[in-house]
Amino acid sequence: MNELRELYQEMIIDHGRNPRNFGSLPNANHKKEGFNPLCGDKIHLFIEEAHGVLNDLRFEGCGCAIAMASASLMTELLKQKTIEQAHALFANFHQMVTTKNNSTELIEKMGKLAVLSGVSEFPARVKCATLAWHTLQAALVDDDKKVSTE
Ligand code: ZN
Repeated sequence: MNELRELYQEMIIDHGRNPRNFGSLPNANHKKEGFNPLCGDKIHLFIEEAHGVLNDLRFEGCGCAIAMASASLMTELLKQKTIEQAHALFANFHQMVTTKNNSTELIEKMGKLAVLSGVSEFPARVKCATLAWHTLQAALVDDDKKVSTE
């Protein structure tokens, strides 16, 4: 268990230092800024969506390793997924980071996001881990018409 924990920690640090999909997205038709005042995490999320499918996601911002790693993993995992799949994944992810002693079944279902399962032991960090996801939900209900490609 300790080895797994160390591996998870290394992956968080790696994604935190070298976030994937970092940058803006010129053709984004959804974008939103998210802020977690508890920790000072800030992200700006860009989504290119068509017919309910998230074709591309990128983000910019700064914050702690957990917030950056969560945004990095989220943008990686949600590419080419439907909005419905994204909401379902967030529901599971939210349960994982807010519930102590998660079932192995749930953690296995989370794939790469399992690296953030340890967050459930640190309630103060839950908002760091969920910032990108809350920003995603807000972005999807709030179209930014100015950058619409339509
Ligand atoms: Zn944070």
